[in-house]
Amino acid sequence: MYENEKEKLLAELVQQGIKDEKVLDAIRNVPRELFVPEILRHQAYKNVALPIGKGQTISQPLTVAIMTEALKVEKGMKILEVGTGSGYQAAILDYLGAKVYTIERDFDLFKEARKRFQELGLKIATLCGDGTIGWNEFSPYDGIIVTAAAPDVPKPLKDQLSVGGRLVIPVGSKTTQIMHILTKTGENEFEVEKIPAFQFVPLIGLEGWKNEL
Ligand code: SAH
Repeated sequence: MYENEKEKLLAELVQQGIKDEKVLDAIRNVPRELFVPEILRHQAYKNVALPIGKGQTISQPLTVAIMTEALKVEKGMKILEVGTGSGYQAAILDYLGAKVYTIERDFDLFKEARKRFQELGLKIATLCGDGTIGWNEFSPYDGIIVTAAAPDVPKPLKDQLSVGGRLVIPVGSKTTQIMHILTKTGENEFEVEKIPAFQFVPLIGLEGWKNEL
C-alpha cells in the first residue's frame, strides 16, 4: 500500500538534499499512515505536516529527515526526544537502532503515542511531562531532538547531553525558527550550525514559552 506515494516522497526528499540512505530507508519503512488520524491516511506520504489533534501536528517528512540526518544516529545510541506528538519521529529513531526516550506534555497525545508504540511492538520509553527540563534519570544522552519551537536552547538539555553528542532544536519566535544543531565539544562548550526557516508548534514549559491558554 502507498508504494507510489512513498517513492514520490522519497524522490522529493533526495531532491531536497537528503543524502543519508539510512534515514531514507527509515522513512520508507516506518508506516507514517499509522501515526496520523484515520481520515488523513491518504495524505500520509505527502510532504506536509498534518494535524494530530490538540492543536498539534506531525512534522513534515522533510523536516523529520533533516533533523534525523543532523542527529547522525548510530545503532545503540541513547536519544532523548522532546515533543512525542504522534510518536512518528520517535519510531524513526527506533528504526535506526537508537534507544529512544520521549517526553510529551499533553496527556492525551502521550497516551495515544504510548498505545501506538505498544501496538507496533516498539520499546520506546515514554514520559508525560515538561521536556524543557529534560529527563535527568537516564542522562547523559548521545543525542537530543526537540520537535517544538523553543525561544532559546534549554540549559537542562545542554547539561544532559554527553560530550560528543548532538542537540537538534528549532529556535526562534513562535511563528518562525532556525534549526540549531549543537555539538557538545567540552563540558560547557558547543559548536553550533544553523539551518534557516522552519515552522513548529511552540515548546511550552519552564525553559520554553509560557502557556498562555
Ligand atoms: N515529534 C512529533 C511532532 C510533535 S509536535 C511527531 O513526530 O509527531 C510538538 C509536540 O511537542 C506537541 O505534541 C506538543 O504537545 C509537545 N510539547 C510542547 N511543549 C512541550 C514540552 N515542554 N515538553 C514535552 N512536549 C512538549
